[in-house]
Amino acid sequence: MSNVRSVCVYCGASNDVNKDYIRLAEKLGAELAKRGIRMVYGGGGVGLMGASARSAHNAGGKVLGIMPRFLLTKEMIYEDVEHVIVEDMHTRKQMMFQESDAFIVLPGGIGTLEEAVEILSWARLNLHAKPMAFLDEDGFWAPFFELMDHIIGGGFTPKSFRSMLVHCDTPEAAIDALCDRIVRLDQ
Ligand code: AMP
Repeated sequence: MSNVRSVCVYCGASNDVNKDYIRLAEKLGAELAKRGIRMVYGGGGVGLMGASARSAHNAGGKVLGIMPRFLLTKEMIYEDVEHVIVEDMHTRKQMMFQESDAFIVLPGGIGTLEEAVEILSWARLNLHAKPMAFLDEDGFWAPFFELMDHIIGGGFTPKSFRSMLVHCDTPEAAIDALCDRIVRLDQ
């Protein structure tokens, strides 16, 4: 029995991306719904954010969107799911963290990267032990893994941290990896 009840999805807000990324986001949303796992995300209706949330919702899954007021129009809040409007980015990020047992990082831009790296940096400081998986089908995140290996190789981050970094190429594998890690942490 998995203890992963809520997964936070970090992903790009741009619509101007290869449609394969949109399709991957839809697959992830549907897979979370199928497994009865709630999706927590930034609340937008655009890009991979909107695609994953709509897909989870249409497949009967629970979704919680957390949106800062100043982005309501720009990121076109998706109102068909449960959503919370907060006053700033910090509150959004903190709530996304608190409401989730684990994280999946889909392809995205600077915002996605910032959110993922912040959660990793908190893990590095032992502020939490919630697992994270990077998900792509085409090696999108490979340069990030190379950068992390470079940083670890330089001695700036301990080698042991490498096991925090999980790279998967299907939604099923990403969710399984998170469930495995949570079971191990519980033991
Ligand atoms: P992007 O990956 O740049 O398309 O952004 C994806 C999501 O991350 C969007 O909902 C952005 O509002 C959000 N985002 C952008 N910058 C930040 C930040 N500094 N902290 C947290 N989220 C951010």
